[in-house]
Amino acid sequence: MKQRFRQFMQGRYGLDQLYVGMLVLYFILLFFSRWFMPELMTGLMTLVIILAVFRMFSKNIVVRQRENAVYLRVVNGMKHTGKKLLQRIKDIPTKRYRKCPNCAVTLRLPRKRGRHKTTCPKCHTSFEVKIRM
Ligand SMILES: [Zn+2]
Repeated sequence: MKQRFRQFMQGRYGLDQLYVGMLVLYFILLFFSRWFMPELMTGLMTLVIILAVFRMFSKNIVVRQRENAVYLRVVNGMKHTGKKLLQRIKDIPTKRYRKCPNCAVTLRLPRKRGRHKTTCPKCHTSFEVKIRM
């Protein structure tokens, strides 16, 4: 039986991070289907499972790898944005963020009221920042 399955899976794509992401999406939809548009959620859940199984048994490995790469790029971008947002929230009591007018890089400055001169560490442009509170 195990040998037969192994033979069947030969040349097929199998599992990847996108597969796991689709399973997570399935359970999120399952969770919300109790309160929000159950028919639509059930339809979406069916679609997600069909796509996940199709991808797993697909023999077009190059396209599946490309899909997974796009998925990873999107998820990593979201993680990066989330981390930055969390850091900014943590910094509210002590820091202020300002953009360099020359190169648009974001500077993390100490929270000191008033007008200050600062220098961009990237392009070394000096400019004035105003921190209100
Ligand atoms: Zn700059």
